[in-house]
Amino acid sequence: MIKQFVPQEACLNCRRCCRFSDSNSVWLPCLLNEEIESFADKPGIPAVSISADKRIVPVANSAQDGFLCPFLNTGDNKCRIYEARPFECRLYPFLINLRDRKVLLTVDLNCPYIRGNIQSADFKRYSQDLAAFLNLPEQLKTLKENPQLLQAYEEVAEVVELGLPQDEIK
Ligand code: SF4
Repeated sequence: MIKQFVPQEACLNCRRCCRFSDSNSVWLPCLLNEEIESFADKPGIPAVSISADKRIVPVANSAQDGFLCPFLNTGDNKCRIYEARPFECRLYPFLINLRDRKVLLTVDLNCPYIRGNIQSADFKRYSQDLAAFLNLPEQLKTLKENPQLLQAYEEVAEVVELGLPQDEIK
């Protein structure tokens, strides 16, 4: 289980996450192969569409322009599958970036909490712990087997390069 860096109240009072400007945004949540399988038969998880590149297909936002994750409850701003949310959502606002064939742990600079805390000792400590976790052999194996998680995100800050060798990146 990945502990959240951003406090719950900060997330609930911010209405940026789980919302997307277009229907094939790089920011749409990507699923691990095993999540695609488990989502299909897990009780309590509403059926949603998964795209060919293993992303949750968003729905049009009826209140304003753009798109929403179908699991977002816009009334209370909570994830309806929070306990079973995808690995990528657990990791957020940290992201796995692929840049120049290097696999980097990065953090989203669009997140207001990150912008306010990126220089803090807490951020440094959390980032080091998270990098150590992602560098465990079983986590690196997960990244290697799920190349859909390695994306080219913009507006992120590099935290550290992860230990996935270039010749193991698909
Ligand atoms: S699954 Fe939950 S946390 Fe992830 S994008 Fe959708 S609403 Fe947000």
